Amino acid sequence: MLIDSHCHLDDYPDLPAILARAREAGVGTLLAIGIGDGPATMHRALDLAHQHPEIFATAGIHPQEAHQTTPENLAKLTALAADPRCIAIGEIGLDYYHLDNPDIPTQQAAFIAQMKIAAAARKPITIHCRTSELAIPAAKAKYEPADAWEDLLRLIHEHWTPTNLPGIMHCFSGNEDQAARSLAAGFYLSFAGNVTYPKSTTIQAVAATAPADRILVETDAPFLAPIPLRGQTNEPAHVAHTARFVAALRGITPEALAASTTANFGALFPETLSASPLI
Ligand SMILES: [Zn+2]
Repeated sequence: MLIDSHCHLDDYPDLPAILARAREAGVGTLLAIGIGDGPATMHRALDLAHQHPEIFATAGIHPQEAHQTTPENLAKLTALAADPRCIAIGEIGLDYYHLDNPDIPTQQAAFIAQMKIAAAARKPITIHCRTSELAIPAAKAKYEPADAWEDLLRLIHEHWTPTNLPGIMHCFSGNEDQAARSLAAGFYLSFAGNVTYPKSTTIQAVAATAPADRILVETDAPFLAPIPLRGQTNEPAHVAHTARFVAALRGITPEALAASTTANFGALFPETLSASPLI
């Protein structure tokens, strides 16, 4: 069995068909990311988790919406975080790539506020981190010399490490040093479809060598479809392609990769192993 550790399920016109294809591809559990189109709709993933036994949810305010981190929205997040089928807070973090994102202090304040909510709920966080490395010149001018990874790891060290709680580096796209520091901070590395792209040699090197007990696979659907489906709308069934690719990088069978990533998800979220049936 495979688990899609990160997918966005809010907007599929025919979700039952998506779930049926996931099941056929051996994808037994899905973690639906509850960021919505912004905080007003961040409850949607949890609604889906209450309707489908194979779906668990997160809730959080994406860094692109950090300017909407109002007391009301944080109260909403706190309420969602108390639900047993909301198993993590996220995706939260820093995004220094898009020119129209909130400024750095706004993003960092939103990230810190949500780490506090996750810590109080004793639930892991799932992280979005995007640097300005490949951004357009105007965005580089806005964010640099700040480095999203350096800021992220510093804020995690200050505000998350003391909680002794784990987390996930979603769509891990950093280098070997950032991987090592994430692992040392207790994070799991989740690999998405972009690991299959020919130019992703650094991500591939990390995926080949990261500890077997700290890796996950995800789709980030509907984005980032893996090769051979690159450019198409992604969906959870396609995590099987990413898993096969990562297995080949590691010189193990797809079955062995599926077994270890599923065990890792269970270690991170033990409540998913004994989830009570839906009412
Ligand atoms: Zn995502």
